[in-house]
Amino acid sequence: MVVAQRVRKRFGQLEVLRGIDLEVGRGEVVVLLGPSGSGKSTFLRCINHLEQIDAGSIHVEGRLIGFRRSGERVHHLRPREVTRQRRDIGMVFQHFNLFPHQTVLENVIEAPVGVLGLSKAEARKTAMELLTRVGLAEKAASYPRQLSGGQQQRVAIARALAMRPKLMLFDEPTSALDPELVGEVLATMRDLARDGLTMLVVTHEIGFAKEVADRVVFMDDGQVLETGTPQEVLDSPANPRTRAFLSRFL
Ligand code: ATP
Ligand code: MG
Repeated sequence: MVVAQRVRKRFGQLEVLRGIDLEVGRGEVVVLLGPSGSGKSTFLRCINHLEQIDAGSIHVEGRLIGFRRSGERVHHLRPREVTRQRRDIGMVFQHFNLFPHQTVLENVIEAPVGVLGLSKAEARKTAMELLTRVGLAEKAASYPRQLSGGQQQRVAIARALAMRPKLMLFDEPTSALDPELVGEVLATMRDLARDGLTMLVVTHEIGFAKEVADRVVFMDDGQVLETGTPQEVLDSPANPRTRAFLSRFL
């Protein structure tokens, strides 16, 4: 589903991604861990066209992200082609960025109507199914400010799912939440994982990684230092930097 090879990215003098190799298989849940500044968000942003890579390649479903080949040459995608590629990828951020002046239902149907061209009736039906899935059908007519942070994040997840993404990227979806609201968002994500959604998740929730991840990837300083099952990486990390990082969570 996702194949990243030797991905490099720099901001000025700062080399943030220094040759990332990472794969996410269809239906797989991969948790990406690493210290602050190690490049996790940048890597997700590269997958979702929010940043352009300098070298290497990222394929999603066999399609080269950000570029297109014509004959021998490789060209940057045109804006319309970028939009098309991005449709297949849903992203949920730390801050949920719901539209404050729209109801929950309006937030969820906005892109399916505006981008996919669904009829409002069709989009509403799907939106209500998704809101039911995240446990918020009864909040459809509420405004974001009337919801808790955890509820808002679940709406953001429903909104991303409404585009029927093939891949979901989560960037620390629970780290802005009050501790008592973290569980409900992780439970929603666990359900999505069980339903077979392909997910790449940046999170410091080690318990979630242990329970839900098929694979855990540890990144430090723009490189992947360790990849394996949750047991391998979390319970008996081979790399001393992984060990040092994890010791903070004990
Ligand atoms: P955190 O756990 O704190 O979210 P992270 O692993 O997600 O960290 P990134 O946000 O990817 O780290 O940042 C990696 C490095 O790139 C940092 O040193 C950051 O300051 C730098 N960086 C990120 N975005 C930019 C930008 N647009 N311009 C310049 N530097 C940037
Ligand atoms: Mg980050």
